[in-house]
Amino acid sequence: SAPQTHTANADLAGEVDRLLAELGVKRSDYTEGALMVRTPITGGIIGRVAEIGATEASGVIDQAHAAYLGWRLVPPPKRGEFVRLFGEELRTSKEALGRLVSIEVGKIVSEGLGEVQEMIDICDFAVGLSRQLYGLTIATERGEHRMMESWHPLGVTGIISAFNFPVAVWAWNAALALVCGNSLVWKPSEKTPLTALATHALFERAVNRFNEAGGDAPQGLAAVLFGGREIGEVLVDHAKVPLVSATGSTAMGRAVGPRLASRFARALLELGGNNAAIVAPTADLDLTLRGVAFAAMGTAGQRCTTLRRLFVHESIYDSFVPRLKRAYASVTVGSPLEGGNLVGPLIDGAAYHAMQRALEAASAAGGQVQGGERIAIEGAADAYYVRPALVEIAAQTGPVEHETFAPILYVMKYRDFDAVLELHNAVPQGLSSSIFTNDLREAETFLSARGSDCGIANVNIGPSGAEIGGAFGGEKETGGGRESGSDAWKTYMRRATNTINYGRTLPLAQGVKFDV
Ligand code: NAD
Repeated sequence: SAPQTHTANADLAGEVDRLLAELGVKRSDYTEGALMVRTPITGGIIGRVAEIGATEASGVIDQAHAAYLGWRLVPPPKRGEFVRLFGEELRTSKEALGRLVSIEVGKIVSEGLGEVQEMIDICDFAVGLSRQLYGLTIATERGEHRMMESWHPLGVTGIISAFNFPVAVWAWNAALALVCGNSLVWKPSEKTPLTALATHALFERAVNRFNEAGGDAPQGLAAVLFGGREIGEVLVDHAKVPLVSATGSTAMGRAVGPRLASRFARALLELGGNNAAIVAPTADLDLTLRGVAFAAMGTAGQRCTTLRRLFVHESIYDSFVPRLKRAYASVTVGSPLEGGNLVGPLIDGAAYHAMQRALEAASAAGGQVQGGERIAIEGAADAYYVRPALVEIAAQTGPVEHETFAPILYVMKYRDFDAVLELHNAVPQGLSSSIFTNDLREAETFLSARGSDCGIANVNIGPSGAEIGGAFGGEKETGGGRESGSDAWKTYMRRATNTINYGRTLPLAQGVKFDV
């Protein structure tokens, strides 16, 4: 008999209502409007949100620009204090917001909570950063001169986000942009407006606390625009938005990148991945099995860093791959709100059909497919639960070269390390990668200039599940952007080089003479 969701849609809608009330969202904001919000847990409707028109959206961006003009004058550590308060709001509401993420996106409970933890972590990082927006002092060739660089706020930071990390991606950008002195305009995924509403309500609570304590957070410091692609385009085309950080498919980046370039605005693009791992002869296979299972099946394969290609050395293929196949056959699929389940639903029917098309193409290319079938769950006829698919395939062709945003792992056998490195890099995307090995030479080569060509390269952990301390992003069709930790903050500021003459003469650089 089919497994059941113990949560009927009406119960979920009721829970969403309670959660949003607790998080401070006005009822009419999620009960009125043309944009229907569904939970992938049942496929049923859990809310409705009003979409904004293009003219109104443009007005909101103008207001955000006015807010930026004030916010840029607030000293950075005070801006950090604001982000600290916002982080406190997130800590207080972690359970509620995490639960809402699970309901709106279908992530298992611990991953919903993990997403909010990631927001808290980036706030903490940004608070420290607010006292560390360092520029350099630079040696000058002229006497009695000083040269330095200053970092200044940039303006309105536009944020376009994808459904699969509905709030963490916004927070990565927002926390940094705020301490850098920018205001924010966010176009969340049309599939996840409720978590955006909740996040915005927590933001407004932090604004009130900050201002009650004598702070100076302007009206309209952060705004949310609900709508689809057309509203994203308003943000992309608006002259008062000098930076757009856009997370989503490569197709989206291909549309957004040139539009931004045409008006010389900055693009921070975080696009699709086609992430691989190499399992070398000396790998610790118990650890590898766990690493591969989480990276490939976790979040139902709907992470940009999900493991999609696995290269297994021929000497261990027959001992490792059957174990992996058993893990695929036994992983628990079902409602993400029920403790025992590790794999929740796909976001919608379109994702399911894309997965089936990829599996058909893989079969046609000679792949041996295990899994991938839809799992019927009682009380959830409109939901799309699938058993994660493992495809043994001889060559890296057809669907293996593309990102299908679903749990499909293509498994290939390799013999030669140099050849597998080449195959590893022979896809258009360049986000995340890993090698499982205990051979120092292989590990270091994988991380070296002739190794992985990705923005993230790991040893003995899977490609998915990044910490906020490092810069996050990838090369090639992944878009080249970096956000989150390290020095990613520099993208959110403008740099000025300053030369100061404290002498009484005016020597020119390069010894140029110009005496009038
Ligand atoms: P999507 O590209 O369909 O949509 C992403 C966002 O872009 C949405 O808000 C959408 O409304 C907006 N958008 C789409 N076309 C636009 C246009 N022409 N102009 C302006 N805005 C536009 O992606 P999705 O299905 O929500 O998310 C899945 C994809 O996102 C996958 O490819 C995944 O790899 C990628 N992703 C990447 C990262 C990363 O950091 N590299 C993180 C998460 C997701």
